Amino acid sequence: MIDYENLRKANEPFFEEYQRSFTGLLESGWFILGNAVKQFESEFAAFNGNKECIGVANGLDALILCLRALDLEKGSEVIVPSNTYIATILSILQCGLTPVLVEPDIATYNIDPRSIEAAVTPRTKAVMVVHLYGKACDMDAITAVTNKHALALIEDCAQSHGAKYKGRMTGTFGYGAFSFYPTKNLGCLGDGGAVTTDDAGFAKAIRMLRNYGSEKKYYNEVVGYNSRLDEIQAGFLSVKLKRLDEITAHKRSLAALYHQGLKDDFIKPQQHADYFDVFHIYNIRHPKRDELKEYLLKNGIRTEVHYPVPPHRQKAMSGVLLKGEFPLSEEIHATTLSLPISFCHSESEVRQVIEVMNRF
Ligand SMILES: *Cc1c(COP(=O)(O)O)cnc(C)c1O
Repeated sequence: MIDYENLRKANEPFFEEYQRSFTGLLESGWFILGNAVKQFESEFAAFNGNKECIGVANGLDALILCLRALDLEKGSEVIVPSNTYIATILSILQCGLTPVLVEPDIATYNIDPRSIEAAVTPRTKAVMVVHLYGKACDMDAITAVTNKHALALIEDCAQSHGAKYKGRMTGTFGYGAFSFYPTKNLGCLGDGGAVTTDDAGFAKAIRMLRNYGSEKKYYNEVVGYNSRLDEIQAGFLSVKLKRLDEITAHKRSLAALYHQGLKDDFIKPQQHADYFDVFHIYNIRHPKRDELKEYLLKNGIRTEVHYPVPPHRQKAMSGVLLKGEFPLSEEIHATTLSLPISFCHSESEVRQVIEVMNRF
C-alpha cells in the first residue's frame, strides 16, 4: 500500500534531534515564550528574508491576527479567492469583516488578478491571497492592484513555505501568515503558526495581540488573544527548518517525475520559469476523478481530494451573503485529485503510481 501521507515515516529522519530538543526544553523548565520561540522566529525570518517573524498558535490565528492588527472598520470588504481551504475565509468572518470571493485562474488554481481589480469597491480594504498547493500567486499583477487602490495585502502561506515568485519568497510581498500544521511542508508535531513582516509597528501589534494584548506582563493595551507558538513546537521547528530545503528538493523531484511520466489525459500543474513551486500538494485534474480515486485505491494507492466541497457550498457559509457565482472553483473541486508527494515517498513509489495511473 502507498499511503497518501505517513507522518511517522516523514518525521523519522528527525527523531534523534527532536528528542535532544525535547530534553533541552524539559531541563530548561521554561515552556511559554522563551528562547526556543525567539530562536525559531529569528531563524524563520532569516530563511524567508523578512525582518520580523512572530510565532503564533496556528495558521488560522496567523490570518486572524493579521486582520486584527490592520484594525479595519467592521464590515470592510476583504477580497479572497473562492478556491481555497475554508480557513482563509473564516479568518475574515471571525474579524467581523466581509469576504468578497473572487474566482481563480483555471491554469494555476490561484486567485485571478484581473478579477481582483473588478471586485474592488470603496469598502474594499484588503486583499488576502493564497499560494495554493505551494505555487506563488501572480504577485506583480496583484501588487499592482493593491498599490493602485491602497489595499493591505495578506498572504496565506500555509502551503507555500519556501515557494518563490521571480526569486522572491512568499510572505515578503505583504503580511505573511504561515501554518506549521503537521502535514504542511514545514510542519511541527502539533499546532503552530507564524506571521512574517518587515514592518516593525505591525510586528509589535501582532506580538501584543498573540499575548493578551500585553507587552509588559499584567498591563493590557488592547483586547488580545492567547495565541502563542509553544516552546516545544518551536524547538521541533528549528530542527526541521534546517532541512526544509532538502524536503522541498525531494518534493520537487517527485513532482518532476509526475510531470514527465503521467500521460496527458491528466491535467497537470502548470510549470513556469518565474515560479519556484514547493508542491505542498501535487494535484491533477480528471473528469472521472472519483472513479480514478477508487481505481487507485483498488491498486493500493491512497490519494486525497483538496478539497471536495468549495467554501461557498459549505454549510458553515449558508448564513453568509456572498455575491456572485463560482463555476471555476466548482470545476476544480469536482475534478482535482492529490497524489502522494510526501518527504516519506521514494522515487520508485512515485514511478509505481505513474505506471498505475497511465493504465487508467
Ligand atoms: C492549513 C491551512 C490553513 C490553516 O492552518 P491551521 O494551522 O490548520 O490553522 C489556512 N489556510 C490554508 C490555505 C491552509 O492550507
